[in-house]
Amino acid sequence: MSNKDKSMSQERFNNREAFTLIEASDLLYKLNEIVYDAEKWHATYNAINFEPLCAILREFGVVVDIHSLGQDIITTENFFDCDCDHNFIHNKEQERYCPTCGIHMHEYPDSRLNEVVDMLNTNSKKEEGNSLHAHELKKLSIYLERLERDAYFMYKSINGGFAEAIMFDYDDDIIDVELKYGIQSDCENVVHTKTLKILRSTMLPID
Ligand SMILES: [Zn+2]
Repeated sequence: MSNKDKSMSQERFNNREAFTLIEASDLLYKLNEIVYDAEKWHATYNAINFEPLCAILREFGVVVDIHSLGQDIITTENFFDCDCDHNFIHNKEQERYCPTCGIHMHEYPDSRLNEVVDMLNTNSKKEEGNSLHAHELKKLSIYLERLERDAYFMYKSINGGFAEAIMFDYDDDIIDVELKYGIQSDCENVVHTKTLKILRSTMLPID
């Protein structure tokens, strides 16, 4: 980061509204890289004050773990990762454990700052405008039911046969769906997982 960049950043600290969540986090990472490099070469580098950026991130609800600054991974104290493949970041204030896999916040590590910021940014974009409409949700639930019915067909006469389809993400154009099916009983555990992309305009899967 050049001196000009540094003084511009300093100026903007005094006008916090000018920062977005992404900008504050990007800048924190850039500063951290400088410190991390210095640490790697056994130099001491105490000149950087992370606090103003941490304060901005706190305003967005993200508490940076100060012990992770200067390390290769920056973490946050108020989010944790669970064992799930999707939606694995949880806000500790809202959820002490994951309702899907049951992992408790004390059992698993704090989340990575960049992943939390990505998630918050995606969520706020969704709130801004591309959220699913009621008619889309209705069509989607019909589609998911059909997926489950078709997948369950092969297993319906088997003890422990199941099929479950869920939406795990979406954007302006695409809805991401996960289908799990197979047999789960005392003597068998066979689970197949398939992910599908559904085009919102047609509610049909694409390749
Ligand atoms: Zn989970």
